[in-house]
Amino acid sequence: MKKHNYSAGPCILPQEVFEKSAQAILNFNNSGLSLLEISHRSDDFVAVIEEARALVIELLGLEGKGYKALFLSGGASLEFLMIPYNLMKENGKAAYLDTGTWASGAIKEAKIFGETVVVASSKDKNYNYIPKGYSIPADADYFHCTSNNTIFGTQMKEFPSVDIPLVCDMSSDIFSRTLDFSKFDIIYAGAQKNMGPAGTTLVVIKEEVLGKTGRTIPSMLDYEKHIKAESMYNTPPVFPIYASLLTLQWLKKLGGIAAIEKLNNAKAALLYAEIDRNPLFRGSAVAEDRSTMNVTFLLNNEAHTPIFDAMWAEAGISGLSGHRSVGGYRASMYNALPLESVQVLVDVMKALESKV
Ligand SMILES: *Cc1c(COP(=O)(O)O)cnc(C)c1O
Repeated sequence: MKKHNYSAGPCILPQEVFEKSAQAILNFNNSGLSLLEISHRSDDFVAVIEEARALVIELLGLEGKGYKALFLSGGASLEFLMIPYNLMKENGKAAYLDTGTWASGAIKEAKIFGETVVVASSKDKNYNYIPKGYSIPADADYFHCTSNNTIFGTQMKEFPSVDIPLVCDMSSDIFSRTLDFSKFDIIYAGAQKNMGPAGTTLVVIKEEVLGKTGRTIPSMLDYEKHIKAESMYNTPPVFPIYASLLTLQWLKKLGGIAAIEKLNNAKAALLYAEIDRNPLFRGSAVAEDRSTMNVTFLLNNEAHTPIFDAMWAEAGISGLSGHRSVGGYRASMYNALPLESVQVLVDVMKALESKV
C-alpha cells in the first residue's frame, strides 16, 4: 500500500509523475530508446527542457517580463555561492535575512565574497518566527531571503519592497502559493522539495540584473553563460528535468498555482486546527508565521512519544519525525500530498487523545 508520505525532501510527487517517468526510462516517446540513453541535444530532449523552462515562466506569471528559467545542478546549496558570484560587486556588499539553517548557509557563502550585512535574525528563539521591521541598506548589491524555512516551519507572508535586486530561496514553497513573482529578481529552488526528484535546481532570473559585478566568473557558475546556452552549457540532469516537467504539467492541468494554493491552505488549516485543539500537542512556530508547507509540532508530554510513533506508523504514515535541530514532528505537506493524508494524521492525533 502507498504510504502517506510527509517527507521533507526528497518528497512526495504526483503518482502519475512516478508512472510516466518510469515509462520514459523504458521507452521514451515510443522511440525504442530510454530517456536515459538519448542525447541531451536530441530533438526529443530539447523539447522537454524547452517546455519545462516555458512552463515555469508561465506558471509563475512571468511571461514577457524579462525572465529566464534555468535547470542547473549542484542543489540549492550551490546557488548560495552563485548568487554572490553573479550579483556582489568587487568591494560591494550584500544584505541577508537570517531565518534558519538554510538562510545562514547562504550567509556563510556570501561572506567569502564580501561584506555581508545580516539585517535581522530569529536565531535568538531557535528560528521560530520571521523577523519584521528591519531595514535594508539601500546601497547593498542585493537582498536575499528564504521564503519558507523547511526545518523550522516558518514562512514569510510578506516580502520587503526594495530598490535593489531581491533574491529568494524558494526551495520548499515554490509553486505552492500565489505571489507577485515579478517582485523578485532571482528565485531559486532545489527541485526535490516541491517540483521533482533531487538533481536539478530551478533558477529564475530577471536578466537585467546580471553582468554588473566586474568579477571574472568561472563558466559553470556564470548565470549569463547558462542563459546563453539555453540551460545546456553542459549535459543537463535529464531525468530530474523530465520528471520536473511532468510535475509542472500536472500542476497546470490542476489549474496552476491558484488551484493548488487552495488545497494547500485547506491541508494546513486542517492540521493546525488539530494542533491547536488537541491538548496533547503544541505548534513550535509562532502562529502568524506558520508555514503551509512544513508544519512543526511537539507532544506536550514526551512520555507519549512511543505510543504516538507506533500509531502513526501503523496508520501508514511515513517521514513525520522532526529535524534534529527542532525535535518533535514535522509534517511536510508539499503540493502532491492529498488532503486525505492529512485527515489520516489528524485522526491519529485524535485517537491518541482518547487513548492516553
Ligand atoms: C533543502 C533546502 C536547501 C538545500 O537544497 P539542496 O538542493 O540540498 O542543496 C536550501 N534551501 C532550502 C530552503 C531548503 O529547504
